[in-house]
Amino acid sequence: MVSHLPGHRNGSPNIGLMGGTFDPIHVGHLVTAEEARQQFDLNSVIFVPAGIPPHKDHETISHPEHRYLMTTLAVMSNPAFIVSRFEIDQHEPTYTIDTVRHFAKDQSPEPNIFFITGADAILEIFTWKDYEELLRLSTFIAVTRPGYSLDHFHETLERNCPQMKQKVHLLEIPALAVSSTHIRDRVALGKTIKYLTPEPVEQYIKKMELYRIQN
Ligand code: ATP
Ligand code: MG
Repeated sequence: MVSHLPGHRNGSPNIGLMGGTFDPIHVGHLVTAEEARQQFDLNSVIFVPAGIPPHKDHETISHPEHRYLMTTLAVMSNPAFIVSRFEIDQHEPTYTIDTVRHFAKDQSPEPNIFFITGADAILEIFTWKDYEELLRLSTFIAVTRPGYSLDHFHETLERNCPQMKQKVHLLEIPALAVSSTHIRDRVALGKTIKYLTPEPVEQYIKKMELYRIQN
């Protein structure tokens, strides 16, 4: 359902995909998406909250509808940001390749897909399902998180997957040592989360009493 994307131009649009648990979404995600939008001339960035994350404990993760709604609240002020229900509406865990395939074919002309992800995650890409097709269908924007060394990234990439170099771009984000874990911990401890996430998300967390008990 991205046929009427804002900013759609003639020719193939550039679409950023940002996957994550978003439990909750925070300024780190938003600053990253906005920086990627500008640097890679993206027409839009689609946030794709994960349904049943394969790597996380189902018991300790908020309900997908909470995560979807918080993500929607967070992107409301940015006309280029969109939230997709694609992964949360699947009844089984989705792989990145499924999501990329879905968006690669979702409109005509077919968009150029830019998959935005942490640089630490990208190092493991060659263990992902159908990673060769993934690299054919999309360009990767590897975001370096605070405290992460770029030298290490280049060395590991060179060693493991030299053919990936043209398909992986690095995006350095000014130090934003915010994570969802940090926000959940602060809520559980009764500490303020003001400015770590947009105000509507902060209010939603309060109203729905999320993260009150530490997992
Ligand atoms: P958790 O602490 O629960 O692992 P998280 O803050 O890492 O949450 P995710 O939803 O797991 O958030 O992350 C989604 C994507 O955003 C991932 O690709 C991750 O690397 C990236 N990301 C997370 N935090 C930041 C940040 N502060 N700056 C830039 N990118 C980030
Ligand atoms: Mg994480």
